[in-house]
Amino acid sequence: MEKLKPQKTLAVIGGGASGFFCACNAARMNPALHVVLFEKSNKLLAKVKVSGGGRCNVTHSFTDIPSFLQNYPRGKNFLKRSFHVFNPEDTIHWFLQRGVELKQEKDGRIFPKSNQSQTIIDCLLNEVARHGIEILLQKKVNQLSCKEVNSMSGFERNQFILEFENGDKLKADYVCIACGGLANEYQYNWLKETKHSFISPVPSLFTFNIPNHPILKLMGVSLNNVMIKIPELKEKMEGPLLITHWGFSGPAVLKLSAFAARELARLQYQFTIQINWLPEYNEHEIRDAFPGIRIRNSRLMVGGKNPFNIPSRLWTYFLDNAGILSSIRWADLSSKQINKLIQILTGSLFKVHGKTTFKEEFVTSGGISLQEIHAQTMESKIHRGLYFCGEIMDVDGITGGFNFQYAWTSAWCAAKSIASASME
Ligand SMILES: Cc1cc2nc3c(=O)[nH]c(=O)nc-3n(C[C@H](O)[C@H](O)[C@H](O)COP(=O)(O)OP(=O)(O)OC[C@H]3O[C@@H](n4cnc5c(N)ncnc54)[C@H](O)[C@@H]3O)c2cc1C
Repeated sequence: MEKLKPQKTLAVIGGGASGFFCACNAARMNPALHVVLFEKSNKLLAKVKVSGGGRCNVTHSFTDIPSFLQNYPRGKNFLKRSFHVFNPEDTIHWFLQRGVELKQEKDGRIFPKSNQSQTIIDCLLNEVARHGIEILLQKKVNQLSCKEVNSMSGFERNQFILEFENGDKLKADYVCIACGGLANEYQYNWLKETKHSFISPVPSLFTFNIPNHPILKLMGVSLNNVMIKIPELKEKMEGPLLITHWGFSGPAVLKLSAFAARELARLQYQFTIQINWLPEYNEHEIRDAFPGIRIRNSRLMVGGKNPFNIPSRLWTYFLDNAGILSSIRWADLSSKQINKLIQILTGSLFKVHGKTTFKEEFVTSGGISLQEIHAQTMESKIHRGLYFCGEIMDVDGITGGFNFQYAWTSAWCAAKSIASASME
């Protein structure tokens, strides 16, 4: 009589997007696998719920892998191989197969048609129920250790022991760590025995504070395109900008905060930015264009005629700063006033003092070093059978659905590898 193979167990640590996606896909790909998911809080998929302003920006439109990778300040090279396994089109297909229709907005962001993050939560909850996954709440893993054992076939394999806050222990054949971004080194302690290196976490995706600056009275003014530079870091970013009651926000600021996250943390969020409000021109080009603009508008008042389509409140602010009366005619501007205006238009300087978390979406940069993880399977290079997915790893994307896409991709890669290893 054929001997029954002992059932293998996968323990998934973390009940967020990546933990759920790994658990349900691994169970679906190998129905013989016993999958248990542990969540330290009493809430599942809490971030999915609040994501994208309650609408959950599931992914982003996709043309090819190289362009998609440009949206990851950290992890670009690593993800090159992962996106060959599971990309945004696969995400759309996966949800559609489970009855969730997605829609794409003009800027490429993709949301559920319902505009409700609950649709995504319901879909994931249905999937774990369908595949008989055991979910245990208020089960904080406090320690993870690994030992080599001899399997029945004679091959050495690892066995993992999870220890919980309440003292309980559990043995597992595979572990997927999907516990999200860690806020500090201390939170990494329970993972120390895995011997994985950890890149210290710093926040990404934040807005810039410029306390008490007179421009704050223009709160609510937005521009379609500006160029923001951080001269000290030689970093720059072009895109939309929003003036808020505390400083600057909008896609250009958030993107810049992500790409410069590590350096800005080093500067303790005290730095200078330079804004070119007309990024289609540099200072020389605008200087060359100015005589023509002046002649064409010579009889008009500068306050009434704004040739650059700058929002009128901002234009008035610029004129005030350049010491130009709105009632003066273009023909009567002095060269000193023109010079000052050009300098403001192409290179206004602002001192940033601190940051504000972007409530719509924020992530941690840093986490488990990618050098020690296989990009196509998310398996540890240190311990066979140990996997990672989601924000715990040193990967992060800009806003727009890139962080969830990475969560789905990494979870899928891990699930596929766990399912096939557990069938051997
Ligand atoms: C407000 C907000 C809005 C966002 N909106 C978007 C968006 O629209 N689109 C987008 O792409 N990205 C968005 N993001 C980013 C996105 O939510 C994250 O990248 C993603 O949720 C990461 O998933 P994860 O599964 O890796 O981690 P998490 O979602 O953080 O899940 C980790 C889970 O593990 C649990 N856990 C931690 N430690 C333990 C332990 N020791 N034992 C047991 N359980 C543990 C945690 O309690 C948590 O439930 C947003 C983030 C925020 C904060």
